[in-house]
Amino acid sequence: MAREQCPVCSAGDHEELIALEEYPYGGNGAVRPEEANNVPYGTLSINFCRLCGALFQTEPVSIEELDEMLLRQPVPLPVNLTKLENVETDRFLNSLKRFVETRGNALDIGCGSGELMKRLTEIGFSVNGVEAHPEAVELAKKDHLEVQEGRFEEGMYPEDSFDLITARSILEHTIDPSTILATMVNLLKPGGYLAIEVPNIERILKRSAFGGFSFNHVQYWTPETLRYAIGIQGLEIMGMHEENYIGIFARKPEKGEEVEDPMPPSDEDVEALFEEVDRFLERKEDLAERLPETIQKRFPNGIVILGAGAPTVDLLYYSEIHDYVKGIVTSDKTRVGAVLAGTDFTIESLENISKLEFDCVMVSSERRQEELVELMASFRREGGRVLRFNPDIEIL
Ligand SMILES: [Zn+2]
Repeated sequence: MAREQCPVCSAGDHEELIALEEYPYGGNGAVRPEEANNVPYGTLSINFCRLCGALFQTEPVSIEELDEMLLRQPVPLPVNLTKLENVETDRFLNSLKRFVETRGNALDIGCGSGELMKRLTEIGFSVNGVEAHPEAVELAKKDHLEVQEGRFEEGMYPEDSFDLITARSILEHTIDPSTILATMVNLLKPGGYLAIEVPNIERILKRSAFGGFSFNHVQYWTPETLRYAIGIQGLEIMGMHEENYIGIFARKPEKGEEVEDPMPPSDEDVEALFEEVDRFLERKEDLAERLPETIQKRFPNGIVILGAGAPTVDLLYYSEIHDYVKGIVTSDKTRVGAVLAGTDFTIESLENISKLEFDCVMVSSERRQEELVELMASFRREGGRVLRFNPDIEIL
């Protein structure tokens, strides 16, 4: 059923911005390769709220579909953490130490195999976790962590239980973020803290060409919209960071303590975001058209795409470059974008890149661009070229 109301501010004034037909469910680079042929396709439609700037799935996927997508994902193993994921965890903890009192008991929602739980324990918390992926729960329990299996919901813990609740990469997967946030706030002790992190769609729109929207992300957050959503819950914002991810750190007031009412994002902010989406879509169309010409002219022997995640899935969806692609290489073969493993593309681990014949590597991801270009240092020393979008086509 299509939504009548904006999931953040409840307004009815919203419109469809994006509709991708025959788009793969998941497809965000987190699908077990052996699951790729089980991935359904459907129309991914994104709406935009004219009042608060929220971007959300017009007809959100169901909890059952979200669960299916989750189970098609590989379990995040600590050894597989990329350099970038480590950098982002460090950033989250640095902000946490700045804006939050680091003592008492904490709950990590969507704790995975418990990486953040371990780090929170190191800085002085006693930590509980909730996780919906059974294999991740098993791994966490092997490490003697206190984890409940299931989707986070009301009634899992008593009210006023925790000094800190953390939820990284959760709110973009929730159909009803306001209810989830209210449940979290209920579990916090008065004076307790909420620490949330979500992908920053504003940054993706500004800097990327491909990727950004996928079925397993029901909701897309900008700093302004997230700040407003947290404010509506009556929390006091202590601090934020805004990079690839938005981190927000907020405090539940003591009983009787007054907190200022939150201001919705300004009309100017909402209008600027609307225009940003437009530019993003134009850039995508433009690149999708120019890329085949560029490759044909400059690299007649074909290219290899580095990265098997959402940006590559999206790039292949938009641009007709299939005939020029000699293969796809990835630094982590355990997670492959849905449509890739389901097709006849050769997918190789990065260390086997020399098995493929090509004269250019195309980096499809904006987020990991520097890291990936760095990995290509020796290939470039030997005369190979790297093509990236920054966000326009650039050949290094
Ligand atoms: Zn809204």
